Amino acid sequence: MSEINGERLLADLRTLAAIGGLPDGGVDRLAWSEHDLAGRRWFAERMSEAGIEARVDAALNIFGHLPGTVGPWVLTGSHLDSVPNGGRLDGAYGAVAALEVLRTLAESGDPLAEQLEIVGFADEEGVRFESGLIGSLALVGELDIERLRDGLDWQGVPIRQVLAGAGRDLDRLLEAQQHRDSIKAFLELHIEQGPRMEADGIDLAVVAGIVGVHRQRIEIQGTQNHAGTTPFRLRHDAGRAAARAAAELRDLVQGVDAEAVANIGSMGFHPGGVNVIPGRAQFTLEVRHLDEPVIGEAVWAFATRLERICAEEGCRVVVELLSSVPPAPMNETVVAALEQVCRELGRRPAKLSSGAGHDAAVLSRHVPSGMLFVPSVGGLSHSPRETTSDEHLVLGARALLRGVRAIAARIK
Ligand SMILES: [Zn+2]
Repeated sequence: MSEINGERLLADLRTLAAIGGLPDGGVDRLAWSEHDLAGRRWFAERMSEAGIEARVDAALNIFGHLPGTVGPWVLTGSHLDSVPNGGRLDGAYGAVAALEVLRTLAESGDPLAEQLEIVGFADEEGVRFESGLIGSLALVGELDIERLRDGLDWQGVPIRQVLAGAGRDLDRLLEAQQHRDSIKAFLELHIEQGPRMEADGIDLAVVAGIVGVHRQRIEIQGTQNHAGTTPFRLRHDAGRAAARAAAELRDLVQGVDAEAVANIGSMGFHPGGVNVIPGRAQFTLEVRHLDEPVIGEAVWAFATRLERICAEEGCRVVVELLSSVPPAPMNETVVAALEQVCRELGRRPAKLSSGAGHDAAVLSRHVPSGMLFVPSVGGLSHSPRETTSDEHLVLGARALLRGVRAIAARIK
């Protein structure tokens, strides 16, 4: 049976990391930038060298398959862009491993090569336009062009102009969807970007699904007053109400489900004076879980407690929904196939949910999809210190090869 070349995989990862590479070991391949484009050219050149036909679509996604094959293919890959001062593996690992898998299969004349297509997605991170997953959303036809039409990038340059700089036309981005029906399944290999695998001694994980994310902005309204003359019992202190609720968030959410996570990532008091009782407190709430009903229960548990606290403090609550992205469960057949791959590689199958968003979440709404994770050292990601051991990087690529074989056999 064909086996990937681990040394070649690691060498390719090092070479790609040097494109937009920073002195601190980080990588800057912000979507649509010179470095992003250079990384994409490098990826296409590696394909051509290996006899793989490379094609760049209307949204700057790069696809590659063997000449003469017509699909529908099992697609595998990930994104080639990075966050500013990001790590060398987020996205790049899944794309380079996909290249290594197809290259290996082609070299050994394995007929599986004809059933496989690889991809380097465009602008997954969403830093530049505050709107991520652009390449995969365009591919499945879900990209909201209107939201981008008159928008500016993070430095005030019109989005239309940024795209033109990369030879792309905003009005034609959705032409990428012409390729959608040529894909019969999707598999994405990625670093975990969190600390759970390392903590639990897991080498290889099957992703059960990508969590849904619910976000609110909450305002508590009290009475602004003099902090020296107003006794505690007569205050309507919005700041105290917010702080009490925030301190209880973890227990409330854990009480609903041990796997649920939540965050209050910003909080502000108005007017913000050392001798002024806050008349208003504003904070953001985010809740994530793999099951939508659990998210709903956790949000409700917090809201109920917050109402009671505010009643006790003599304050009012106003809640504004910011966004609600539903969970994306991975396909059961694909998950079962990947669990079998773990066993073949001598690993006990471990299922994890992904707390971060991925292109696989978008693809999963259209074709059977799955993901594999390898551990992140120290759980660090979106950081120059993001890394994974060579052993785990090679193991993940070996699992990817077996994964595409299993999926090609089970999904017609
Ligand atoms: Zn990523």
